[in-house]
Amino acid sequence: MDKLAIVVPCYNEEEVLKITSKVLREVLEDLIGKEKIAPDSFILFVNDGSQDRTWNLIEEEHSAYPVQVCGVKLARNVGHQFALTAGLLTAKDMCDVTISIDADLQDDVAVIEEMIDKFHAGNDIVYGVRRERKTDTFFKRTTAQGFYRLMGLMGVKTVYNHADFRLMSRRAVEEFSKYKETNLFLRGMVPLIGYQTDNVYYDRRERVAGESKYPLKKMLALAFNGISSFSVKPISLILGLGLFIILVSVLAAVYALVSYFTGHVVQGWTSLILSIWFLGGLQLLAVGLVGQYIGKIYIEVKERPRYNIEKILTAGEDRSA
Ligand code: UDP
Ligand code: MG
Repeated sequence: MDKLAIVVPCYNEEEVLKITSKVLREVLEDLIGKEKIAPDSFILFVNDGSQDRTWNLIEEEHSAYPVQVCGVKLARNVGHQFALTAGLLTAKDMCDVTISIDADLQDDVAVIEEMIDKFHAGNDIVYGVRRERKTDTFFKRTTAQGFYRLMGLMGVKTVYNHADFRLMSRRAVEEFSKYKETNLFLRGMVPLIGYQTDNVYYDRRERVAGESKYPLKKMLALAFNGISSFSVKPISLILGLGLFIILVSVLAAVYALVSYFTGHVVQGWTSLILSIWFLGGLQLLAVGLVGQYIGKIYIEVKERPRYNIEKILTAGEDRSA
């Protein structure tokens, strides 16, 4: 039977930790009872440098339930994406399948069973997708939707309305670990892995207790990081703009020359206006061109795996990667 690890990043979550632990333990027990996961499946709390009693509570839970509750203590606060990665990479050698979920239980634990079923049906990655955003404020809803749209325009493949509530098989996490980049944006990286994937749908709730650890500033940083880590399109946009301005400068030249010959202009205006347009366009073009090379260097230094092998058929035996 497959051993499940539920990975939960926690930053100053003392108000919810005990509840979360209880709810997730119940989920595990239920699935173990139904023989869908191994009896030694567990929850892995990752304490992301909390300043409150979060770690003490994790320790308490671990001594009360040594098999079911495990913990990782990060030496300092590194942020949600890194904390989650730390948890997944720690869990991967201890289990067959992982599910990541936030500590605040906003994501519906009821669909965990469905995720496991889809895993058993042959999916390596199962995305938890929010059905609608009723519980969000108007502001959060519109900014989030704008964000997904912008990501799409920039050519970053993400799953619409999916945050980091997700099942990943051990081999998917193994492939993920080959992405060595430091600027992490998991929602963009996981779809790069490949494998058979599926979605489960749920309604997102209010936080059980406590406050959001993602203020607007962190949200904007995440959004910008998502785009700048995945797309060199902004650079191409500069190049395109440069070309466009040079085209405009041709039109401006026609206009300026016509004005010049019909004699309605101040001395020196024609040469001045032509230089402004043409040089402006030329500069943007040059910056964009240099940018193309920088973009390539950027992609090269990431050293992302160029492909992920799923299966090899040979004369000897069939092997899964
Ligand atoms: N989190 C973390 N490190 C941080 C900020 C947040 O590990 O620096 C965790 C947090 O404990 C929670 C998850 O990331 O489990 C999502 O945070 P939150 O629920 O505050 O975000 P929101 O749902 O409001 O977007
Ligand atoms: Mg939350």
